[in-house]
Parts: sequence; C-alpha cells; structure tokens
Amino acid sequence: MKRRNVIKSLSILPFMGSMVTKAATHTTAVKQSPALKRDLFKELGVTPVINASVTMTFLSGSLMLPEVLEAINSTSHDFANMFELQDKVGAKIAEMLHCEAAMVTSGASCAILLGTAACITGTDAEKIKMIPNLPGPRAEVIMQKSHRYLFDQAITTTGAKIVEVESAADMAQAINSNTVMALFFNAAEKSSITHEEFLKVAKARNIATFLDAAADVPPVENLFKFQKMGFDLVTFSGGKMIRGPQSAGLLFGRKDLITAARLNHSPHEAPIGRPMKVNKEEMFGMYAALKSYIERDHKKEWEDWLQRAKKIGGKLETLPTVKTKTHVDPGPSNAFPSLFVTWDQSKIKIQPKEVLVALKNGTPSIVANAKGETLVVGVVLLRPDQIDVVANRVNEILQKALVT
Ligand SMILES: *Cc1c(COP(=O)(O)O)cnc(C)c1O
Repeated sequence: MKRRNVIKSLSILPFMGSMVTKAATHTTAVKQSPALKRDLFKELGVTPVINASVTMTFLSGSLMLPEVLEAINSTSHDFANMFELQDKVGAKIAEMLHCEAAMVTSGASCAILLGTAACITGTDAEKIKMIPNLPGPRAEVIMQKSHRYLFDQAITTTGAKIVEVESAADMAQAINSNTVMALFFNAAEKSSITHEEFLKVAKARNIATFLDAAADVPPVENLFKFQKMGFDLVTFSGGKMIRGPQSAGLLFGRKDLITAARLNHSPHEAPIGRPMKVNKEEMFGMYAALKSYIERDHKKEWEDWLQRAKKIGGKLETLPTVKTKTHVDPGPSNAFPSLFVTWDQSKIKIQPKEVLVALKNGTPSIVANAKGETLVVGVVLLRPDQIDVVANRVNEILQKALVT
C-alpha cells in the first residue's frame, strides 16, 4: 500500500468506528419502525389489499409463510444445478406425499399441461420436440361433460382433444387407441361418474388418470387421498392454502409419468413446458411450504379461524338487526369457515354489493364477497392484525347506513 493511501485509510479509522456504532443503532431503529423500510407498494403506487375472501390468482394467491420467505431468501445466494435440485426436491416431496415421484411446476395449470404432455410423449425425444404439432391423429383426453372448466385449456394447449363423456359406459366406449389420459376435476359441482368408477374404467384399458385437486386443501388428508385411491397423477396449487409461492404447484404420482413430465419442462431448452419455468428459490419455497403445511396443527388452525369469525361477528352484531353465522364451505375446494352477515335492509339501508364497493374503495382496500342478500367475510387469509381492521370497517359502513 502506498504511504498516501495508508494515511488515508488510517485517517478514516476513527470515523469508521463511529459509523459501525451508528449503523448498528440504525438497524435497530429500522427494526422498530417499519416505516423507515423501503415501501415498494408506495414507490410504485400499488394498492395493498386485505383479502377477506378466498385464494384468487388475480389477488396474488395467498401470503407466503415466514418459513417460505426464509427458504427463498436463504437459498438465493448460491447457484444450484436445476436437474439436481428438481431430483432432490421431487424425491423429498414424493416421500412426504407417499407416492412414487413428484415435481414442482409453475402452478396447477402447468401441472395439467405437463401431465398431459407426459401421457402423450412418454420419454420419446422426437415427440417431445414436436408437441403440440405431432403428426397423425390428435391425442385424446377423456373428461366428464360436467367437469369441463376454464383450466382444461391447459390440456388442449398440448394439441390434445378433449372427449366428453357422461356415464361410465360412455367412458368405456370412448376409449380408443388415441386416448392418452382421463382427467377428473375434483371440485366439480356435479360428477356423473364417481372417482371409483372413473378409475376402474380407465385402469381396465390402461389409460393414465389425472386428478386436479388444485384448491382442495384443507383438509390436509386430501394431499394423500387420491394417489392412494389410484390416480396416476395428482396436482395441487402451491399458492393457495398451502401458502407457497403463487407461481408454484405440485405434480405427483407415477414415476414414469413424472420422468416424462420433467422431460417436457424447463431446464430443458425446447419443450412445451420451457416457458413455464420454476426458479430455484420457488422449488425450495414450495418444499418448505408443503413441509410446514403437513406438520401444522390443523385443529388449532381451524379453531383460530372459528375464533376470527366469532370475533368479527360479535362486533357486527352490536348493530341493530345484524345477524351473523359462521359458515363452513362443504368443499372440496375452499373447505373452510367464513362469516355470513345479514341485516334488515329497511333498518340498515345498504346492500351487500354496496358494502363490497365501500370496502374495496376504502383505505386499506378490502376484498370480501356477497351471496345474494348475504355479505360473506372470509377469515382464513387475514393477517392476525387485520381481523379488527375488517371488523371495524364493515361495522363503520353498516353504521353509516343505519336509519335513525
Ligand atoms: C386454481 C386452480 C387451478 C390453477 O392453479 P394454478 O396453481 O393457479 O395454476 C387449476 N384447477 C383448479 C380446480 C383450480 O382451483
């Protein structure tokens, strides 16, 4: 070091000493006052929303748990080989879910697409390269007519055609040499073929079965139920009640199909699933979320949800004519409690729909639901500190509309 520089560095030493002390104090100060933190919502003018509804993609799914954020943050400082990571994460998830194999996808929709692609291509490199433009007759996927839904576009994106059936006999008849898969939408309002019949018909003809249970936890048991029942592939969203990254999901089941699904996915450069990449941190995050979800005290969590509903209900019932009731959705999707609120609209002159608008337009913005003359206040996605905020805001809006 040149003398001049030595003097320079020496001269800053005392100053540096004081900086360290200052920095330490500053860090403590930041911790105590979150207002000093960089607020990106504010910086970009994005409105933070309180979700008094259910998990919805347009509302950013769910809030990741601290252990998921920790998994993302703590793994972000090193590179990893993505093939190895998917191997290891997949094996661990498969072990946790008592099935042969598993992978992290960029959501349940991606899982449906990759599962279908896997059933079409197997491990055939040529087919993987050509999909969705395979020569010859189109691959066929069987679905019940009453199970058709928006998400089945993930099936046809592979080039496959959906064949609708109504009865088990229909289904047996529809199977031919082009049939590659049969998809069961678990949360469909109506099924004309039961899970058992569906599996029986498909298995008799060696057709792969796929069950979409994207939003079907709680109960936690559903994570194990359908592979045990005999479905070859099952998907759940990562960013719903499992509270993993919104852009992650689970695909699990038969090993040969997961191998084929992975060949149709990133990090391979060209397959149909390449644009549905999952990053390293999301894979670690999905694993952490699933582990946390499985190990959670579900009874305690349920009890907490009921308490939340009771607390908000108690506050609202102090208003004349307001009646509240805890409603548990029978599922299979969104099978958890929420609060139903009704009132005499000649005494409180506002409709549930108008309450929703007022909630949305207030600060902080709150999203709730309405079912006809009932206001539906979701409780499961609220942060603990938001329970009172929601109760007070609904109370305030109803109070204002009270005829005196
Ligand atoms: C949410 C949902 C999907 C899509 O899941 P993503 O994880 O958002 O891709 C698919 N199917 C059903 C039944 C769903 O509820």
